[in-house]
Amino acid sequence: MELIKKIHSSLPQIQCGRCDTPGCYQYAEQIAEGVPHDRCVPGGSDTLDQLNKILDKSFDNVDENYGPIIKNKLAVIREEDCIGCKKCIGACPVDAIVGATNLMHSVITDICTGCELCIDPCPVDCIDLVDIPDEDIKKIRDKSQFYFDLNKSIKPNKKRAKLKNNTNINKDISSEINLKITNRGIDKNKAIEDMQDHILSSDLKKLHKFKRNQVEIFLKEKNET
Ligand code: SF4
Ligand code: SF4
Ligand code: SF4
Repeated sequence: MELIKKIHSSLPQIQCGRCDTPGCYQYAEQIAEGVPHDRCVPGGSDTLDQLNKILDKSFDNVDENYGPIIKNKLAVIREEDCIGCKKCIGACPVDAIVGATNLMHSVITDICTGCELCIDPCPVDCIDLVDIPDEDIKKIRDKSQFYFDLNKSIKPNKKRAKLKNNTNINKDISSEINLKITNRGIDKNKAIEDMQDHILSSDLKKLHKFKRNQVEIFLKEKNET
């Protein structure tokens, strides 16, 4: 377990799956079991050097077959072009995209790891990758495992139920957010975060039978992460 933690802390936490696993923690587990540790192309030589030291095994280069590299970027949706098809939501490993069918979608910027997984599924190519300061990248990636685990815990077996249960809630909230967005004076990120918390609360109550106080504790911990 200690070894997995050490390996995991050396991985870049982009959760992109390019190493042929669902995410960074799963790759750390596989490395601890003997899978080659040269597959994190986004981590590049820095990550490889750290892993070489931890494992006392030496690879000179990352295996480019698991590439290409990922630049330090953040996804931003051009809202005026978005058709609300929701394809990007299913692709995002950390639930950083919010929106409802036929309505504008947005990226929660302080969760997005820049993994690029939402880019290809978008049928109208309205997701851009923009530069982000290094210090923000570290903050985001340090907490990406939390959102990755949360996404996995809610979605695997309950995906259909979640979508069905949330359809009306999403529509209502997104209508409200869309209205608010017409007034650019509001704190848009805060509004989107509130929407995410609302959807999450609903999932936890309906799908995981959380009591109200449990939901409050969960959201408090999430927002402190
Ligand atoms: S950053 Fe991507 S390629 Fe590297 S370990 Fe994490 S999921 Fe795998
Ligand atoms: S919004 Fe796009 S780039 Fe950002 S984490 Fe989600 S899938 Fe990756
Ligand atoms: S995939 Fe593109 S068009 Fe569809 S909801 Fe996402 S950003 Fe909008």
